[in-house]
Amino acid sequence: MVPVGVFLLAAYLTTIEVGVITGLACSLASIVFFTTRVARRVQRNEENARRLAEGLPLVAPISGSDEVRGVALALHRASAVLTERRAALADSEAMYRTLARNFPDGVVGLFDHDLRFTLMEGKGLEPIGFTKERLEGRTITEVGEELFPETVRVAEAQYRAALRGEKSTTERLVNGHTFLVQIVPVRSDTGEVVAGMLVGLDITERKDAEEELRRAEAFLDSVVENIPNMVFVKSAEDLRFVRFNRAGEELLGCSRSELLGKNDHDFFPAEEAEFFTSKDRQVLESGRLVDVPEERIQTREHGERYLHTRKIPILDADGHPAYLLGISEDITDRRVADAQIRESKELAERANRAKDEFLSRMSHELRTPLNAVLGFAQILEMEDPTPDQHESIRQILAAGRHLLGLIDEVLDVSRIATGKLSLSSEPVSVTDALTEAADLIRPLAVERGIRLRIDDADGLHVQADRQRLKQVLLNLLSNGVKYNREGGDILVTWEHVTPERLAIRVADTGVGIAPEAMARLFDPFDRLGAEMSGVEGTGLGLALSKGLIEAMGGTVKAESEAGAGSVFTIELRLAEPPVDRFEREWGGVEAPPSQVTPSRTILYIEDNVSNLRLIERIISDRPHVRLLSAMQASLGLELARDHLPDLILLDLHLPDMAGDEALRRLRQDPTTRTIPVVMISADATPAQIERLLAAGADEYLTKPLDVKRFLQVLEAMLDREPAGP
Ligand code: ADP
Repeated sequence: MVPVGVFLLAAYLTTIEVGVITGLACSLASIVFFTTRVARRVQRNEENARRLAEGLPLVAPISGSDEVRGVALALHRASAVLTERRAALADSEAMYRTLARNFPDGVVGLFDHDLRFTLMEGKGLEPIGFTKERLEGRTITEVGEELFPETVRVAEAQYRAALRGEKSTTERLVNGHTFLVQIVPVRSDTGEVVAGMLVGLDITERKDAEEELRRAEAFLDSVVENIPNMVFVKSAEDLRFVRFNRAGEELLGCSRSELLGKNDHDFFPAEEAEFFTSKDRQVLESGRLVDVPEERIQTREHGERYLHTRKIPILDADGHPAYLLGISEDITDRRVADAQIRESKELAERANRAKDEFLSRMSHELRTPLNAVLGFAQILEMEDPTPDQHESIRQILAAGRHLLGLIDEVLDVSRIATGKLSLSSEPVSVTDALTEAADLIRPLAVERGIRLRIDDADGLHVQADRQRLKQVLLNLLSNGVKYNREGGDILVTWEHVTPERLAIRVADTGVGIAPEAMARLFDPFDRLGAEMSGVEGTGLGLALSKGLIEAMGGTVKAESEAGAGSVFTIELRLAEPPVDRFEREWGGVEAPPSQVTPSRTILYIEDNVSNLRLIERIISDRPHVRLLSAMQASLGLELARDHLPDLILLDLHLPDMAGDEALRRLRQDPTTRTIPVVMISADATPAQIERLLAAGADEYLTKPLDVKRFLQVLEAMLDREPAGP
């Protein structure tokens, strides 16, 4: 602007004429007017420039077309641009806030060069009890002094470092939450640091999970560490050790620092190492556990040891072996102990076998002369001896028979011990077995005034060897009489223990057995002091009974009250009576009595009544066949000679003679030699069948009888033309 004084001075110095003066005055007036207007417009521009700087709206625009207007217009344009930019900035800040507010599990903040938070947002604020209002506008120093005074200086340093362009990452605990905090510089397009940014991620859950995992790993580590067996892990890739426990270190005499990263070849002799790695490869190739029952290993401090090792593949997520886990038990001491036990067991078994063989041989050897003693004593008895001689002979016979019984029992005991006892297991009628045993014992019971009561077993059958079951029942009843008081009782009862098993109880009212003697009750030759009582016995009966019943799949138990009596219980498997089975399978209706005269005769030598009934029942449908039967071999042989039957059915286990002996005699006797003989036995071993067929049997049928097969054999044998003698 031109100062007004200059114009006035110029006018004074050059006044020539009024016109000029007037002109000048006019000019001056117009200059003054002009100058005043310009000054006002300039002032408006100055005002607008200030408003622009302060961000206020501009006052009305200036008219005219000079430079002042140009400036005014420029100011207005600048204001418009600024408003536009400000709006854009507000938009982008709003968007930024929205983004930051939704930042999950954490917080995002901005701070300026005064370390003042200009923004603080995020979902992680609420859980730690913060709001953005509490933080925005305050400096890190103010906030820190209030919330984390101990670390505020460190935080400040980090914030400053960010403003210098350095970034930092720390974990910070705020109100029980762990944050992973990153403080980074915010740069403009030109690379200048314009602010600092804080990004905090709430990693509390992850930390907790890590801690849990760490605890679980520590627990597992301590378990593995304390397992008393060697535990090791090898990497599947190169079979190098990656893990080793304390027991492993102690066994091998190496520290784990020596072992880790090494393989078997670094430690063991080549042959051993090759063996170990071959097993490792087997595990990794098969993907399965490999059990190495025994492997030798050289150790530094304990010399040669033997291990039982199990190797297990550890698979990765794709199912490929990543590691190999090995667990080795040192079995060296056990191995030595086992060998010693084996050796002593073998020795004991050898001694036992020798004893049993000796007993068995001796018994056979004793039987022959004893038979002669008994035989000749009986002849002498028949030769009309004097009363004194008669008494002596009676003594010889009694002692001889006792000895024979003893020898038989010893033989049986040794047969049971060596597993050589042959049993013929079949359905046996309990009533029949009990009645037969009771019949034998009754005279003795009567002699001592002992009452014997037997419950009828109601047609029940058990699976047993008939002769041997009878022998056991006889022994129990005989003990019941022997160890009873005069005029006492014996009661035999039965009970279903399960639907499949039957218990037979023999109870007496005798002297009973002392509790301390119960454990020895079934020991051979132990008479529990009865030898002093004058009651005869050998102490073998119960041992034998137990062995026999167990060999039949049953059990024997005893209960007793000293002075009151004893109860012996046999338990055996129930069996279906043969005739019932026949009726069920064949549904046969018994044939009415026929007028046909039988033209064929069959002799059945069998001591089991149930089997006899079965054959009777089958043959009852065939009126042309007559059935003769004998329950003892000697009677059977007699009947065979007298009746010359068309067929003989012969049981293998007979009370007075073995079936094969009966067969031998039939074949030896010219009158019976050609009669077809069919063996019927529960003993189905191929060797037995072969032996009897070779000994002259025509057929061998096994029990339980296959009725169809039996009928076929029957028809075939009866159709045969009788061969001449
Ligand atoms: P033995 O009768 O030949 O001595 P056992 O083996 O049959 O041999 O019995 C062994 C011992 O058990 C008998 O000597 C006797 O002491 C005792 N004992 C057996 N049965 C009875 C019983 N019913 N009552 C009391 N004691 C018994």
